[in-house]
Amino acid sequence: MKYIGAHVSASGGVHNAIERAHEINANALALFTKNQRQWQAPPLSKEIIEAFNANCIKYAIDKTKILPHDSYLINLGHPNHESLVKSRNAFIDEMQRADLLGLSLLNFHPGSHLNEITVDECLTRISDSINMALDATSNVIAVIENTAGQGSNLGYKFEHLAQIIEGVNDKSRVGVCIDTCHAFAAGYDLRTHDDCKKTFEQFEKIVGFNYLKGMHLNDAKSTFASRVDRHHSLGQGNIGEDVFKFIMQNPAFDDIPLILETINPDIWKEEIQWLRSLMD
Ligand SMILES: [Zn+2]
Ligand SMILES: [Zn+2]
Repeated sequence: MKYIGAHVSASGGVHNAIERAHEINANALALFTKNQRQWQAPPLSKEIIEAFNANCIKYAIDKTKILPHDSYLINLGHPNHESLVKSRNAFIDEMQRADLLGLSLLNFHPGSHLNEITVDECLTRISDSINMALDATSNVIAVIENTAGQGSNLGYKFEHLAQIIEGVNDKSRVGVCIDTCHAFAAGYDLRTHDDCKKTFEQFEKIVGFNYLKGMHLNDAKSTFASRVDRHHSLGQGNIGEDVFKFIMQNPAFDDIPLILETINPDIWKEEIQWLRSLMD
């Protein structure tokens, strides 16, 4: 079965995100469990957690199809020790927040070397950061997202994702989320059925579909291999419609959250409906 949703707002409390997902006929969703632009956040209150649980039941949202995203401030591969520790602590807090909500996944961007350490050193730091977070928590899976490779962000090559996973001790609690816009901007073509076949065969060979815990479905305003991260509405950007048909008709993408991060929330409902129509 396909689980489709969008990264919806959690303003007013995380329980509201469930209601917003329901309004667009989603059966999956992404959200921030705290303000993504601040380091500190008040802990989730008992009332908020109860309201979140109640809404998941009320709107029949399966918690395993919820893919929370961590703060943009976190850099698990930070070259500076003090900043690295700050990021690691914030990440552990995010893992614990997800756990408190009964969620099983936490999506994050791997990290940036900031031109101060090598790619290998940065990837090792990211693996070590994940190991520390897994040791400090018990249930949540750390879900590494591929990136467009803007600036010094790592994770734009499938090999980066594989190397990070290689350094993680508990492979049962690490996974990946592939963002179609990021992959395309990083140089993985997705414009035709054949391109998709080739790109996902590469993914299977280098990372493996057994690690795929979610997808971000975005078209791209940025051009192929531009290393620029600019999302677009489905079918309106430089990737086009074929990749979404490929994903919707392929059982390799069953039973994981498929999340829109497209630029116009007003048409999310129609985008979800369109994606579902591609299954026939
Ligand atoms: Zn994404
Ligand atoms: Zn992006």
